[in-house]
Amino acid sequence: MIWPGLLKLGKELQLKRLDAEVVGMVKNCFVKIYGGQNMKVLELFVPEISDLDKEYIIKRLHEGGIKKQTWLEYGIKIIFYEYFLPYPLKKIKGIIFDICSYFLEKYPDQKIRCQKCGVPNDLEAYSYGSAAMAVCGECQKLSESEIEARNAENKFVPDNYAAGFIGSLLYSIPGIFATIFLFVFLNMLAAISSVLYVFLGIRGYKKFKGKISRFGAFLIILSTMLMVGFGIILAYSVLILKEMGTFDIDMLLYILRIPEVQQEMVKNIMVSYAISGIYLVFQLIQMMKEWRSDITVNKAREI
Ligand SMILES: [Zn+2]
Repeated sequence: MIWPGLLKLGKELQLKRLDAEVVGMVKNCFVKIYGGQNMKVLELFVPEISDLDKEYIIKRLHEGGIKKQTWLEYGIKIIFYEYFLPYPLKKIKGIIFDICSYFLEKYPDQKIRCQKCGVPNDLEAYSYGSAAMAVCGECQKLSESEIEARNAENKFVPDNYAAGFIGSLLYSIPGIFATIFLFVFLNMLAAISSVLYVFLGIRGYKKFKGKISRFGAFLIILSTMLMVGFGIILAYSVLILKEMGTFDIDMLLYILRIPEVQQEMVKNIMVSYAISGIYLVFQLIQMMKEWRSDITVNKAREI
């Protein structure tokens, strides 16, 4: 998502937009701006860069109160931190305008280098999956066909969901031991171990080559929920057996059916879901990003 402020800035600089950034040429430099948590990030690519040019940039940034920058190959990355208020767009615009004017004046006939092949050329901004870059026409054609081939290959991956699900269940077994150990021997809230199930479940799913897809992510959630519940019931059983001092299964089943015991188990399971849920949602968002089976290519569009 792009903050409205960035869109406004992009429009003023006559840039274009991709899914997460505004991009485009300002004079003979390529500009990419995006937002992060409490920050705006500017990446500026120039045709040439000498030590003298770097000095100029540092001086200009100091004037704007910016003391830190990262040098890229033929470019610079500047982070504008925003702890309380958004960084004034006018200031960012001023910095971009001044630096780009300087480079146009100094290297009037030179072009930016393609970010794939490195040859100076006329460039267009594209996003490949989540990476936005300025590339030449040749590289664009090449990557598009590469990505098409990869996406086509993806379609032939077998739907080995069952194997992934089983892998996820099997790998979660140590989580059950952790629950029992914490609960029975350390008297700790077993819910803490539920995070372990998520972590292990994902590993198991991957190890058993479960298909990387959204449905796969759903299966991991399902297996985690099943195993967390199972782990807690088992932990209660071990505790009850330990307190009875005999291995009396009939008695155990009788106690497990007592409403008060069931209520407590359900309460514990819910707390565990709440705790692992936070971690699971976090993991899931990551997975959804990484596991999008098809990579899409987008050309920067008008704001
Ligand atoms: Zn190229």
